[in-house]
Amino acid sequence: MTPFHPPEVLLLGPGPSPVSKRVLDAMARATIGHLDPRFVGMMDELKELLRYAFETNNALTVPISAPGSAGMEAAFVNLIEPGDNVVICQNGVFGARMRENVVRIGATPIMINDAFGTPIDLNKVESTLKDNPGVKALAFVHAETSTGVESDAAALCKLAQDHGALSIVDAVTSLGGIPVCVDGWGADAVYSGSQKCLSAPPGLSPFTLSEKAVAALKARRTPVQSWFLDMSLVMGYWQGSGARAYHHTAPINMLYALHESLLMFREEGREAAFARHRENHLRLVRGLAAIDVELLVAEGARLPQLNAVKVPEGVDEAAVRKRLLSDFDIEIGSGLGELAGKIWRVGLMGAGSNPESVDRLVDALGVCLGRKAA
Ligand code: PLP
Repeated sequence: MTPFHPPEVLLLGPGPSPVSKRVLDAMARATIGHLDPRFVGMMDELKELLRYAFETNNALTVPISAPGSAGMEAAFVNLIEPGDNVVICQNGVFGARMRENVVRIGATPIMINDAFGTPIDLNKVESTLKDNPGVKALAFVHAETSTGVESDAAALCKLAQDHGALSIVDAVTSLGGIPVCVDGWGADAVYSGSQKCLSAPPGLSPFTLSEKAVAALKARRTPVQSWFLDMSLVMGYWQGSGARAYHHTAPINMLYALHESLLMFREEGREAAFARHRENHLRLVRGLAAIDVELLVAEGARLPQLNAVKVPEGVDEAAVRKRLLSDFDIEIGSGLGELAGKIWRVGLMGAGSNPESVDRLVDALGVCLGRKAA
């Protein structure tokens, strides 16, 4: 065996997104002790940078040492107890995972289903919350990676508040690409992933809890089911001045990478980053239209960072993806669940959201489909 040297692939799928040399270089810096005071100083900056990204002043704002799925699990195990009722909105694949988390806790999921490719219907959520007084939380996916749809997070969090429920928001694909206004929305538990619009490698889950959520955690009748994800223990390591209590050995070099990518996000500025994602999405839509290819989602609900592209009639979607990878070194994603075989998922996330990437993909897709731009 020899050292592994991965090929150069343009990552335009649903994540991971391209990781810049600056972030990779940060990751290659010397590993130091995770209780070294200089490392602790970097951790404090990281929390501050995450607060900027999440638009929050929440004290409990940290990266969880595991991917987005761990952020999802942390939100549920910390806030939900056996016997609780939880309203879950499902308009794609990831809502089903929320259901699974709730069932495994011994709580009861109350499902609201919307068609894949459409946003969550606020009227259905309102009537479900009215019909089920006392639900512990309302959970939903802000940016559905499986369908490319944005739902109205501000309105959903407001509905949760109006009905005395906590809100659990999946911002895995939204953070860094479109506004995630944790304090403005009054959201209670929000989690994301490092490998989408923040363009760090996968393996960390930015996570934040509101004061109300922390109070709910403190008032639990039962211990958090997961020792590793129990935020009251994790915070012994991430919070406090001076010495930090050992909980687990932090993924030190991964945290350097996230710190660097968040620094880049702050240098660019939130609004500029969102505008860039929007502009490159519109460039893709125009480019696809020129080769007669359409998007699945209606215009007002499209995510700029995740484009669900309809596979034209009679085209073998897997063969096109395979050729894009083998002949053009471009990766895009397939459809999931009921959209398998019907769409491609084109991610323009973080460092992948630029005009050159868009043009390279549209040109290559035109060749694969035998279509020239009109
Ligand atoms: N939630 C959403 C909306 C996602 O898109 C993903 C991953 O694509 C996850 C959760 C799970 O994140 P991870 O794969 O980092 O565990």
